[in-house]
Amino acid sequence: MIKKVLIANRGEIALRVHRACKEMGIATVAIHSEADRDAMAVRLADESVCIGPAPSAQSYLKKSQIIAAAEITGADAIHPGYGFLSENAKFAEMVEAHGLIFIGPTAEHIRTMGDKIAAKQAMIANGVPVVPGSDGGITSIDQAKKVARDIGYPVLIKAAAGGGGRGMKVAEDEDALETAIKTAKTESKAAFGDDAVYLEKYLGKPRHIEVQIIADTHGNVCHLWERDCSLQRRHQKVLEEAPSPALTDEQRNEIGDIVAKAVQKMGYRGAGTMEFLCENGQFYFIEMNTRLQVEHPVTEMITGIDLVREQIRVADGKKLSFSQDEVLLVGHAIECRINAEHAETFVPSPGTITDFHAPGGPDVRLDSAVYSGYRIPPHYDSLIAKLIVHGRSRKECVMRLRRALDEMVVGGVDTTLDLHRKLVEAEDVVDGNYDIHWLERYLGLK
Ligand code: ADP
Repeated sequence: MIKKVLIANRGEIALRVHRACKEMGIATVAIHSEADRDAMAVRLADESVCIGPAPSAQSYLKKSQIIAAAEITGADAIHPGYGFLSENAKFAEMVEAHGLIFIGPTAEHIRTMGDKIAAKQAMIANGVPVVPGSDGGITSIDQAKKVARDIGYPVLIKAAAGGGGRGMKVAEDEDALETAIKTAKTESKAAFGDDAVYLEKYLGKPRHIEVQIIADTHGNVCHLWERDCSLQRRHQKVLEEAPSPALTDEQRNEIGDIVAKAVQKMGYRGAGTMEFLCENGQFYFIEMNTRLQVEHPVTEMITGIDLVREQIRVADGKKLSFSQDEVLLVGHAIECRINAEHAETFVPSPGTITDFHAPGGPDVRLDSAVYSGYRIPPHYDSLIAKLIVHGRSRKECVMRLRRALDEMVVGGVDTTLDLHRKLVEAEDVVDGNYDIHWLERYLGLK
């Protein structure tokens, strides 16, 4: 039985995991770098351990130090959150080799899905539709030219080890192909230490739609509907919603079933997300994330299911606490990612929060670990809060989001709050009428 969980992360997600543990009567251990001594999760956790200096490479990414902290504190399990070591197969293996429970899938599944070429091939084998492209990696320029001619330009060169939108290059025509491949390879080698790349059809007006699943070790798999994360800047999600305003109930049931069946065939355990691009009613798999996602709260708001709680339950060998028929879809939810960045230039703005007021009222949730007087360290990503609101309809949700955004105060640092205030007034956003390129066009980047 899991009695104590070490949270191998920081910021809002560390607090999110802590909250689920407390509601389950589970003790928590927060780890932190020297720069995060004053973090909220550190203050609230039952115990905390400093694992190293500020840079992530010397703290949040130090596998052996984290495992040592779990052993010293007598934790039974480690929750990796998202980012950092959450999709590191070696870490999952090490955790289990030390007799601890990794709250996540098996190392084998993490490894397969972490290689996007292998992931795509696994999906094809399990009946999931994928973006047309090279069958495996690019082995030569001639092979790439042939594939590109067959599927038609523009094409996208993507890194097998890619993540966070890095290592992707568009080639508009054959003349641009060779350079695109070379640049993608160089970028990928520098960022991920691996230069394997593959080729895909570049879709012009797709939406990014992803399906949340969770599986236990007794063969039960449920999908928890989809999230629409099409509002992106530089391939990074800015605002997410559930359900997608672009799908019919029939389409949502269909894609949910396809995903749940594939996941069952894989023998997967834990939470995961299958990401798709959707254009003209067709779904194309792009990748699977083998962890909890930043935007998981919108799913929690429409289903009433606590995903972290279920993650912990299935890691502990328990059955899912619901069946597919019991997964509700009530109303609509939207999440705004609020970053400590300038709302127009997106320049990060670390520093001290001098004034902080959280919005409240019915169906408003703020997942944040900051407080008045908190100093945002410059070493990590700039996400400081996720504002999530629910409404019985999408319209009610948008109206509530406007009022919640108006109530929120973050003083002392620049934030993207003003961008969100503008977005919820934009006609296309209000109408749910946008694709993955909409935001960059709106920001004048395209
Ligand atoms: P990463 O793991 O780096 O986030 P993904 O494969 O998940 O990469 O893609 C991230 C984003 O890049 C997608 O949400 C979408 O906006 C864009 N993208 C990916 N593949 C394609 C494609 N074939 N055509 C057009 N856009 C794409």
